[in-house]
Amino acid sequence: MFPLKDKKLAEDIVSRIEKLDVNLKFMHVCGTHQDTLVKHGLDVLLKKCGIEIGQGPGCPVCVTTAKEIEEMLLLARKGKTVATFGDMIRVPGEKHSLQGMKEEGCDIRTVYGIEDAVSIAEKNKNKDVVFMAVGFETTVPTTASVLLKNPPSNFSVLSCHRLIPPALKAILDMGEIKIDGLIQPGHVSTIIGTKPYDFISKKYNVPQVVAGFEPLDLLMGVWMLVEQIKHGTAFVQNEYTRAVHEDGNVKAKKVIDEVFETGDKKWRGFPVIPKSSLELRKQFEEYDAKKKYEDDLEELKNKDFKEPKGCKCGELLRGLLSPQDCPLFGTRCKPGSPVGPCMVSIEGSCNIEYRYKKTK
Ligand code: SF4
Ligand code: SF4
Repeated sequence: MFPLKDKKLAEDIVSRIEKLDVNLKFMHVCGTHQDTLVKHGLDVLLKKCGIEIGQGPGCPVCVTTAKEIEEMLLLARKGKTVATFGDMIRVPGEKHSLQGMKEEGCDIRTVYGIEDAVSIAEKNKNKDVVFMAVGFETTVPTTASVLLKNPPSNFSVLSCHRLIPPALKAILDMGEIKIDGLIQPGHVSTIIGTKPYDFISKKYNVPQVVAGFEPLDLLMGVWMLVEQIKHGTAFVQNEYTRAVHEDGNVKAKKVIDEVFETGDKKWRGFPVIPKSSLELRKQFEEYDAKKKYEDDLEELKNKDFKEPKGCKCGELLRGLLSPQDCPLFGTRCKPGSPVGPCMVSIEGSCNIEYRYKKTK
């Protein structure tokens, strides 16, 4: 393994890429990758070498739809205790965010994880506690293992969990942007392994590299992609061998499969993506907020909700734009007064861009 903080090695990789005189567009789907790229100026550095790297649907908070937020708002209004992560609480709905509802007296709790939400339910048996579970494959095993431990009956989950490979397929099928290579997310891949990406290279002839989160991981990942392109090959390579194995985490995958089954779901900025969501299996129906509170949620059944006016999060999540292309970036939309989820979430590309650059 190469030393992760070696500046000389980084410069060497960059100069090798530069000499190849390429003009390529890569996509990654991970908030932490975006953070590393922007924080260390790798986005600018690589652009000078002819490589543009954009973030696709790489943040679980950002891809949660306006309708899912409205469902949580409705449950809160109907007297349930709603628990979720801090970022999720600040995402604006049509009129309110969960934060706004909290200020109006609804019982909204910020938690660090599902265990905190279960403990709220254990301590408040007279309350119905609903946990809004967001996250890609990385966080699903925790949700699943908590549900396998028989949490109290006043606890339930609104599953907003989503899967990465079907979203990548959707992007490639939509064909809106040119993608010369994909950098796959490290943490997601520790769970699913590298095999679930194979079909992408085979079907769409797109090279892929699973990469870690250090600047050198990303530079190596880019280098590996460029090498594949140069040699006319397209397959899945693993740069993050210190954490990711071909088969992933077999135990975690088994736990996920025991509790969840795949479903078709809309993502923010996308139409319904087949087999891209995880829904609770019938045996866990008593913990499924969508089933448990079906009557409460009935009024939203056939409604759809749009992105906030003027917000470009949808295009951003499809890789069509960069944060600074949005006219609201840094003007009407800032981390303290976000218009869209990409400015709220610390994994959102607008929030990352604002934190490190805020050029407007
Ligand atoms: S969970 Fe980790 S690997 Fe997955 S998208 Fe978020 S930061 Fe990236
Ligand atoms: S700057 Fe704000 S409004 Fe524009 S895309 Fe980003 S989050 Fe949405």
